[in-house]
Amino acid sequence: MAGRVPQFSNQGTAPFFVPVAVPNQGNQAAVTRVGILAMQGAFVEHAAMIRRLGAEAVLVRLPRDLEKVDALILPGGESTTIGKLMRAYGLLEAISHAAGIGVPIFGTCAGMILLAKEVAGQAQPHLGLMDIVVKRNAFGRQIDSFETDLQISGLDPRPFHAVFIRAPIVEKVGEDVAILASLPDGTVAAAREGNLLVSSFHPELTDDPRLHEYFLRMAGR
Ligand code: GLN
Repeated sequence: MAGRVPQFSNQGTAPFFVPVAVPNQGNQAAVTRVGILAMQGAFVEHAAMIRRLGAEAVLVRLPRDLEKVDALILPGGESTTIGKLMRAYGLLEAISHAAGIGVPIFGTCAGMILLAKEVAGQAQPHLGLMDIVVKRNAFGRQIDSFETDLQISGLDPRPFHAVFIRAPIVEKVGEDVAILASLPDGTVAAAREGNLLVSSFHPELTDDPRLHEYFLRMAGR
């Protein structure tokens, strides 16, 4: 389909540093610290969006990085690569623990695959935290990537321009999962279950911060 398909950034070139935790002073409201899993994929773009909204972006590469964060984003990229690196660095257990104590987690595209309870037809390391079944690359190959406007519940009614890049399809949702956005054929494009938020598209690759704002509200902002 027509439309510009942005590329992922290379890892390791992030033009910002990992901040060190600074104790909150006096009555000043603490800045929300959003961890961004920085193994591979579109983490730089998520960090830019988070900083634009006045929150702090903390790159997460090791379990100890999670100690500093109020919320966590799992970016798009290649879920197989990200999952293997998460397993190698002990992040599968650490992130599952964070989710269990209520830390809000937002998975976009590959991040959604990593959060899903089941990845259809595939055994790959993933978190398995959210009651959805996803199928990888189900819209087709890279050339079948597309952009479209969506209505997202929880946001104001203006359409959200959504970029799908070799996106997964949500095949099933559990009864506690709220569907926030769907394609015209009914395919789920964004959903939430408690502290877990997912989108099969890439909100960080557009100029529209509303879904990230929604996520920051989940983190108590
Ligand atoms: N195709 C990728 C996967 O299966 C997801 C693509 C993306 O994150 N844009 O992991």
